[in-house]
Amino acid sequence: MEHYALKLREHSLKATPQRAAIAEALDTYGHLSVEELYEILRKKFASLSLATIYKNIHIMLENAFVSEVKLPGQKSVYELTKEAHAHLQCTNCHTIEDIALDMECLLSQAKTKTDFDVQTANLVLSGLCKKCR
Ligand SMILES: [Zn+2]
Ligand SMILES: [Zn+2]
Repeated sequence: MEHYALKLREHSLKATPQRAAIAEALDTYGHLSVEELYEILRKKFASLSLATIYKNIHIMLENAFVSEVKLPGQKSVYELTKEAHAHLQCTNCHTIEDIALDMECLLSQAKTKTDFDVQTANLVLSGLCKKCR
């Protein structure tokens, strides 16, 4: 847990036990919705509310400790902020996987081909995973 506390402080976040537990859960499972985080964390913190998770995720987003992954037709999930990458979404079992694509290349192409000032990208590729195929 100390490892996560340290990481939180690196992002100017106060390292509360709940926040460290959120960080640990995201590190373990990769991508989780607020509801899924709540299900995992309430086993540890009996008095925890869904609103507390929302509040913490919101602050962690502001400090770029976590990133939001917006999924078509599904609730947003959250992950620990890492290098820009795309996501694979299984439309059957709803698993989310990271895929290292050259996002820099994509962004620079978008910039040269349009007058649009692209700031962020949220690339989700949908299909069927190995198990569901
Ligand atoms: Zn699947
Ligand atoms: Zn990801």
